[in-house]
Amino acid sequence: MIDDTLKRQLYQCAALPSLPAVAVKIIEMANDPDADIGSVCQYISLDPVLSAKLLRTANTPLYKSRRVATNIRQAVSILGTHTVLVIALSFSLTHSLMKSKLPDSSTAFDNTIFWRRSIASALAARALGEKLELNYLDDLFLAGLIQEIGILAFWVIMPEEYGKVFASTSDHDVLLNTEREAFGAGHDELGYALLKKWHIPDYIALSCINSHSQPEPKNLGPTLQSCLAVSRYLADYFLFPHETEKMTALNEAAQKWLGFDAHALIEVIKIMEVGLKAVEDLFEINIHDSSEVDGILSEAKELLMIHDLSRMRDLEDKSQRDGLTGAYNRTYFDETLRQEFNLALQYDLPLTIAIIDLDHFKSVNDTYGHIAGDSLLAMVVKTVFDQIRQDDTLSRYGGEEFALILPGTALTTSRNLITRLKNSIADIAYKFDGRNIIRITASIGVAGYQENMTYFREPRDLIKAADSALYAAKHAGRNRIMEWSENA
Ligand code: GH3
Ligand code: MG
Ligand code: MG
Repeated sequence: MIDDTLKRQLYQCAALPSLPAVAVKIIEMANDPDADIGSVCQYISLDPVLSAKLLRTANTPLYKSRRVATNIRQAVSILGTHTVLVIALSFSLTHSLMKSKLPDSSTAFDNTIFWRRSIASALAARALGEKLELNYLDDLFLAGLIQEIGILAFWVIMPEEYGKVFASTSDHDVLLNTEREAFGAGHDELGYALLKKWHIPDYIALSCINSHSQPEPKNLGPTLQSCLAVSRYLADYFLFPHETEKMTALNEAAQKWLGFDAHALIEVIKIMEVGLKAVEDLFEINIHDSSEVDGILSEAKELLMIHDLSRMRDLEDKSQRDGLTGAYNRTYFDETLRQEFNLALQYDLPLTIAIIDLDHFKSVNDTYGHIAGDSLLAMVVKTVFDQIRQDDTLSRYGGEEFALILPGTALTTSRNLITRLKNSIADIAYKFDGRNIIRITASIGVAGYQENMTYFREPRDLIKAADSALYAAKHAGRNRIMEWSENA
């Protein structure tokens, strides 16, 4: 827990700006579950600057309201009491802190950069919430805005010592660790103490400190904490779009804590762009030159495409399949068989494989040409795919030879399916040239793992067995199924 000396310094520090009366009153109302809309309006009206900002906020694209608010009461009725309180708090906190003079010795601290980053992360947290369709967007905005307030507190309490630590790194997580080593507490804890001193509602203060510890990548759904944690990376990227490692870090965090892929992230950046202008105006700060903004989005798209997982899966899938028929290729087959074989071995599960070889296929080519042969191969594969389960793997094992893995299926259970496959291949009537009907049959060799457990020591043994059963089927006259058995 935070060191007492540090806490005392924080509480006694004269340099820390005290909150303006309006902010204090707003915090009081935010903590009061019975605060009514009338008194909220009344207090806000006392501060003309704040009133004007709230009015403008209600009319920005951030709130997709069809009504235009012309006075505070309307704004409050459009936004709701809670939202108004939270927004008012965002403004009054930032306003007083942004304008406040820091001690002379802390000239190395760039107040503008600090607030640019804070406002970017507020915008980011809100955009993440919007994409996730959460209903506490303004809480996200406020928490995003003040989650790093501890950094400001450090600067004010011990400008010289902190200046050195702060200058030593540009990485947020490294900074946090260095602070902990040097001062016994990080800016997360100090920030929490400050927010408590100001009586900021606990759920906001807590989410600010919690966002600094890594959220559990559990599937609990998005939380304030996980959105805030990601918002820091998003803000860093938004401010420094040319640094590739910021994008990598963002991509990882968004994937791990929110399950966002590249497309989702692009949408979030788009949402941020929509709100950017309004937020810059309201907080009277420039986060980006407007010329730069277009660049960010197109650059983000490019970079994200490289990281795009779903696209990679797509490519991976293509590299796993045979181009002509769409059946899996040999490499994929070998790997799948190895995995299924080990599972069968480990959990004592049945496993059957079948090798399907087309009969006299050479004569199809010789009679009708290779193109006809190619089409027929594709038809056979489609016929088989239509009848097998998702977990079954059909692969092209050789030219006109296919291997089928049936996990969880015993030899006896496979008989129905294999017979159906043989018959439906024989039923294919391929109308070629509009005149000739091409027909084909298949010979199938089958081997079941469970029936011969002691015999099959490795995947290759299973293939060899199915192959020799296939050979027997060919030898016995083709267009038939043969099962391998140990005693045959
Ligand atoms: P069997 O019944 O004994 O298996 O006779 P078969 O003619 O089917 O077997 P063989 O192994 O002698 O010949 C296989 C033929 O399959 C030879 C080859 O031209 C043809 N083939 C292999 N791959 C392709 C392909 O991708 N497209 C086409 N059109 N034909 C192929
Ligand atoms: Mg053949
Ligand atoms: Mg063959």
